[in-house]
Amino acid sequence: MTGKKGLVIGIANEHSLAWAAARNFHAAGADLAVTYLNDKARPFVEPLATEIDASILLPCDVAQDGQLEAVFGAMTRTWGHLDFVLHAVAWSPSEDLHGRLTDCSADGFAQAMLVSCHSFIRTGKLAEPLMRTGGSLMTLSFLGAERVVDHYGVMGPVKAALESSVRYLAHELGPKGIRVNAISAGTVRTRAASGIEHFDELIDETERKSPLRRTVTADEVGRAALLLASDYTTAITGEVMHVDAGFHVNGMVFH
Ligand code: NAD
Repeated sequence: MTGKKGLVIGIANEHSLAWAAARNFHAAGADLAVTYLNDKARPFVEPLATEIDASILLPCDVAQDGQLEAVFGAMTRTWGHLDFVLHAVAWSPSEDLHGRLTDCSADGFAQAMLVSCHSFIRTGKLAEPLMRTGGSLMTLSFLGAERVVDHYGVMGPVKAALESSVRYLAHELGPKGIRVNAISAGTVRTRAASGIEHFDELIDETERKSPLRRTVTADEVGRAALLLASDYTTAITGEVMHVDAGFHVNGMVFH
């Protein structure tokens, strides 16, 4: 990865899946741009950015006009080129997340889609002119996109839209050599995960029933992101890669 330039959006703290990925990108030699949500998040993210010698550190709330564009502006000025992006961003208003999908408000649904799905589409649009020799766009999804997962609620349809967007972006950007993939990660205790009710039960279920009889680590997700960013996967695009200890293969498993 030496000489490759990458953007990581979605580090909140040292537990973030995006941080595990950033550490792996850096260890493999990549040069990184890193973002933080807002002033409140900055003290948690800045020391991590320093630890991996990030060339660019900027605020980026994808719901605020111009912030994502400003990050791409900085990368254009500093590097003039981009090789990969990891989008690890998800959010929904908590009242919509914690209720039934049946009761989800139009506004809550729209906000969850804007932050968690459309921001990835915008990222693709902004990355396109910087990926003149191709590149790799990655996002993070969850099994709740494909199957009903209790308490995942509105995020299920939102992640389904995200996975579908991966396929359409792969189709549209493929002729330019830009690959687009998702990692469907297993359950990991992070800040975002703490917003999902009964998350500990999801972890227990994974540990009991996944083929590997355990859940995954953030580092395992980060290493998969490194793989998808690397030249080892130059023929892989439009894929949703499960990094979930195999949990997704389960139908009805009785133990
Ligand atoms: P996390 O809380 O560490 O990361 C979520 C990130 O989203 C945070 O950095 C937060 O600042 C960012 N974010 C929220 N709203 C934003 C906005 N408006 N603009 C910019 N950034 C915003 O938790 P995580 O678990 O590492 O989540 C990263 C991704 O992984 C998410 O897409 C999540 O759905 C996905 N995922 C997580 C798990 C899990 O078990 N933790 C499993 C599968 C998928």
